[in-house]
Amino acid sequence: MYLKLMRTQETYAMKASLLSVILVLLLLIIFTGTSVGQQAPKRYVAITLDDLPVVCQCENDAERMEITEKLIATFKKYKMPILGVVNEQKLESNGIVEPARVALLQKWLDAGYELGNHGYSHKNINEISFEDYKNEILKGERVTRALAQKAGLPYRFYRHPYLSAGDKLQIRRDLDSFLKSHNYVIAPNTITYQDYTFSGAYDAALRKGDMQLAQRIREAYLPYTLSRWEAAEKQSIALFGREIRQILMVHANRINADAFDEVAKAMQDRGYVFISIDEALKDPAYARPDTFDGKVGVTWLSRWSAEQGKTFSGGTPVPEFVREAAR
Ligand SMILES: [Zn+2]
Repeated sequence: MYLKLMRTQETYAMKASLLSVILVLLLLIIFTGTSVGQQAPKRYVAITLDDLPVVCQCENDAERMEITEKLIATFKKYKMPILGVVNEQKLESNGIVEPARVALLQKWLDAGYELGNHGYSHKNINEISFEDYKNEILKGERVTRALAQKAGLPYRFYRHPYLSAGDKLQIRRDLDSFLKSHNYVIAPNTITYQDYTFSGAYDAALRKGDMQLAQRIREAYLPYTLSRWEAAEKQSIALFGREIRQILMVHANRINADAFDEVAKAMQDRGYVFISIDEALKDPAYARPDTFDGKVGVTWLSRWSAEQGKTFSGGTPVPEFVREAAR
């Protein structure tokens, strides 16, 4: 009898422990099950926007504001930390700073996004004298620096217009020390694409009222951008044996206002986590010394490729019908 009771107790204890094991397993399935649909974070990217306040075929500042608000809404939706760089000439009309244009920059700052300098009038370092280029930098910060300060945000970054840092190593070095002496940090990029061609075509189609063409351009944008992402990921592995933290450079334009939501979603599906440029720059890839003396491509991936004697195509070209529509 006593033995039987012991056995029953043992059976109960065994059943209880078996039940708790099942319970733990069930909980594990429930918790891991919720993340099955989401890819584990394994890729990182910082998003940067060029040519602020807006680059578009806009007829008035209300249109510019609409594009600005749409862009910011998308970036907020995906919780993207953004760096936007400004061409201050675009704040002016007949040499006078327009408050309605300054209000566009204020929108970015109100959203908590950092602004930087992209040269006063978007001049290429290879096409003007070094003295003029330095003046472009100093002239390019007069409004934005004060606005950023008032908003309590830093003003630190410089992005080269046309992503051209100078074809000669000595010029790049001289420029780097000039920028350093004015407390600027260079904003590199590893992924870029001709969003401006798509946006020009899209703007033109909308102006003509050709909604069908506008839609076709918009639909072609996503697969085009994805091919560029894929190329940058592959090149990163070819150069570093791993996927580095990428920095995307696109423009504050209409195609991104209307289609960046789809791009962002696709990036998330590729496993991208959106980080700040500061977080991206912690990747040791960006600390590599710049030693290549010759014509360099427009992204840091192109520059690193040239250093290693490797070719880099950057991805598929813009479809011909989009080029045609942009003309
Ligand atoms: Zn630019």
